[in-house]
Amino acid sequence: MQDRRGVDGQSDDELSWQRLANCLGVDPDLFFPERGASTREAKEVCKGCVVRNECLDYALANGEKFGIWGGMSERERRRVRRARAGGQRDGAASA
Ligand code: SF4
Repeated sequence: MQDRRGVDGQSDDELSWQRLANCLGVDPDLFFPERGASTREAKEVCKGCVVRNECLDYALANGEKFGIWGGMSERERRRVRRARAGGQRDGAASA
């Protein structure tokens, strides 16, 4: 999403994936639906996006709390974050 990606200290290089985003030119509001509104259309755009993983990683790394990133809603990203945190704890425990 070219209109909503903050630069937040990120270098052009770190954000170069955005140039390949499927959502370039798509209305950013689609990715920030009102509470309870459908996320289907946004997720459809994300489905064929070649930088979906980069987008999701960016959102997770920057604690993006709102909107669809990497084809995932806030709730879905929270689940990923918890799973990754749990995996890290498990890994630390077994090390
Ligand atoms: S995954 Fe979705 S929100 Fe992220 S860059 Fe691609 S199309 Fe845009």
